[in-house]
Amino acid sequence: MYRNHTCGEIRMENIGQEILLAGWVQRVRNLGGMTFIDLRDRYGLTQLVVDDHSSDEVKNIAATLGREFVLQTRGVVRERSSKNSKIPTGDVELQITELNVLNSSATPPFTIQDDTDGGDELRMKYRYLDLRRETVRRNLELRAKMAHVVRNYLDSNSFIETETPVLIKSTPEGARDFVVPSRMNPNQFYALPQSPQLFKQLLMVAGFDRYYQIVKCFRDEDLRADRQPEFTQIDCEMSYVHQEDVLNMFEGLTKNIFKEIKGIDIVDFPRMTFADAFEKYGNDKPDLRFGMMIHELTDLVKGKEFKLFDDAEYIGGICATGCSEYTRKQLDALTEFIKKPQIGGTGLVYARVNSDGSVKSSVDKFYAPEELQLWAGRLEAQPGDLLLILSGGKEKTLPVISSLRLEMGRQCGLMDKENFKPLWVVDFPLLEWNEETQRFFAMHHPFTSPKPQDIDLLDIDPGKVRANAYDLVINGVEIGGGSVRIFDSELQAKMFKILGFTKEAAEDQFGFLMNAFKFGAPPHAGIAFGFDRLVSMFAGLDSIRDVIAFPKNNSGRDVMNDSPSPIAQAQLDELYLKLVRAE
Ligand code: ASP
Repeated sequence: MYRNHTCGEIRMENIGQEILLAGWVQRVRNLGGMTFIDLRDRYGLTQLVVDDHSSDEVKNIAATLGREFVLQTRGVVRERSSKNSKIPTGDVELQITELNVLNSSATPPFTIQDDTDGGDELRMKYRYLDLRRETVRRNLELRAKMAHVVRNYLDSNSFIETETPVLIKSTPEGARDFVVPSRMNPNQFYALPQSPQLFKQLLMVAGFDRYYQIVKCFRDEDLRADRQPEFTQIDCEMSYVHQEDVLNMFEGLTKNIFKEIKGIDIVDFPRMTFADAFEKYGNDKPDLRFGMMIHELTDLVKGKEFKLFDDAEYIGGICATGCSEYTRKQLDALTEFIKKPQIGGTGLVYARVNSDGSVKSSVDKFYAPEELQLWAGRLEAQPGDLLLILSGGKEKTLPVISSLRLEMGRQCGLMDKENFKPLWVVDFPLLEWNEETQRFFAMHHPFTSPKPQDIDLLDIDPGKVRANAYDLVINGVEIGGGSVRIFDSELQAKMFKILGFTKEAAEDQFGFLMNAFKFGAPPHAGIAFGFDRLVSMFAGLDSIRDVIAFPKNNSGRDVMNDSPSPIAQAQLDELYLKLVRAE
């Protein structure tokens, strides 16, 4: 037997017992005649002592140990003379009678502890060592626990967990596919699924009624902190449901995860239309942890000879609570912030609401004090607040105000990571016009159903059609998204036409789906949650990499096994592939 206890469980009540432990050497301290060894495993740390009571053999072995050696040991539990209140086993230690080195270890390239000295790349290269660190492992344990809660909830609601293929047909819609050549089918390729969308819809045609899968998906996109080329979704589909049924089911799932994992009762779960979210928060994923809502001021500020506002289609602003004392330097920094290319703002007008209620603005010469009072009133400002106002085209300006709002939320400390504010954003537009290609794209995907009351608009003004599509947003992060699906083959064919598919192309790409719809497809709807994002939010982390056991870096590389990598000529030949060197 290697062990009969773990390194995390020995307590005062075990004193006098002889126990066996196995684990890794965290550190060794030699104090004259005594050697202390911290032995670590997944469960914790136990202090081993080699002293005069130990045999010479044990002492000799103890003298050879290094960090990360793998040990198996026998000893008697005793009370420590100097206790360590920081760890659960800190009251006791193991007086060693037997010590076996199961494996030695090269010196690890960084320290295996919470505040490691290892940089990012190094930790990724030796990810298996990084994963020995408690902070990192805890994130993965959280992930496993959350997956378990999700399965419990969905299983108990009659969802059938079903695997769908990983080698599928490439489709041009959506993000870029990763493709896989086929040896047995020369010059033909599979794609890795961007999501199991079509398969889950076919499972509804098959009468599965409720499906789910915690599933890897693949998208060949540019990477960011919250994106990886392969990521995990909680993917679900239901039959004979309306949008409302789906929202209720997955509101239930979300509440259940918060309750089971964090002990939090989520009470408010508002719904907001896409149009409202855009007007009031400037984006489709509002962070509801704080107010500072956007208000339009166009009607109040135009016609006063202030050219900037007179020329603008839209003028709107926010009220930064308690910020009236911002210095010139701070205000300049805010202007710099909105002018960053990725934010795209041009300038900022501000007004301070003084403690006596008077308003002083950067454009005082154009506006009378009573007019400035109206601004403050519209923005629901109180004495001590700061009004920040932007102008320009509406579609461009609202997102800039949104970025400014989030920045102010950050500066004012209103984005507490342990305060969770979920909501549904509903009624997304069905289509998005793309100037470059001069065609419509599906905002969600081509299988999303238009709102029945908007179907007539499809022929007249497709851009105005709203979809039965919804996003789950928590603290400004899109955690999930889904839609009610088209289940009528003719409407689906029409949708492909609007999206610019020829009849032949639609038939070639999606014929199997439209054909399936001819065999009694039930009404159905579904959703997918980004599982990595959900876990990283629960872990209080900004990057999803930290909740993935073996993530890729920002260039999509696995630096541990150095992939992607070239393959042998024989492999290429077998696949009928010829390399073209990029110059
Ligand atoms: N397949 C969709 C996605 O990955 C989600 C859904 O509509 O269920 O975004």
